[in-house]
Amino acid sequence: MERIAKRPKERRSSTRREKILALLVESKSFLSSQEIHKLLTRQEISIGLATVYRQLESLVEQGRADAIVSPSGERLYRHCGQAETHHHHIICRVCGAATELDFPEVEIITQTYAKRYKYKSVTHSLEIFGVCLACDRLQSSSIKSRRKPKLS
Ligand SMILES: [Zn+2]
Ligand SMILES: [Zn+2]
Ligand SMILES: [Zn+2]
Repeated sequence: MERIAKRPKERRSSTRREKILALLVESKSFLSSQEIHKLLTRQEISIGLATVYRQLESLVEQGRADAIVSPSGERLYRHCGQAETHHHHIICRVCGAATELDFPEVEIITQTYAKRYKYKSVTHSLEIFGVCLACDRLQSSSIKSRRKPKLS
């Protein structure tokens, strides 16, 4: 797939893209472009934030990364291994852990309403945000230990 005669500039940007992709593969959670930029800088890779953003968007376009919008409206990225196929996520608001979801119900509802309102080429996005079991346990145990003297 790779062309042999690449201009140096293209080659450099493609290695950077691979570095960004490697970060997304390693990460268990969704990351913002700022967080990815910070991680790259820590690895002493000099790259501008705008370039990071462009590279991330091109990875998403190629179906090699997954993008979602957080409740605060921030765009977040991750490599799910199934970005090519349509899917949903459940994401922890505290630690950012994400799990892929198959949502047959949502697909059916989408088709039902598209038909009802005669809409063609419909798409949808749905992500569930919450606090995962591990984070919930951590939170409640720290609350308990703080309250200890009162309860007992
Ligand atoms: Zn995903
Ligand atoms: Zn969590
Ligand atoms: Zn869906």
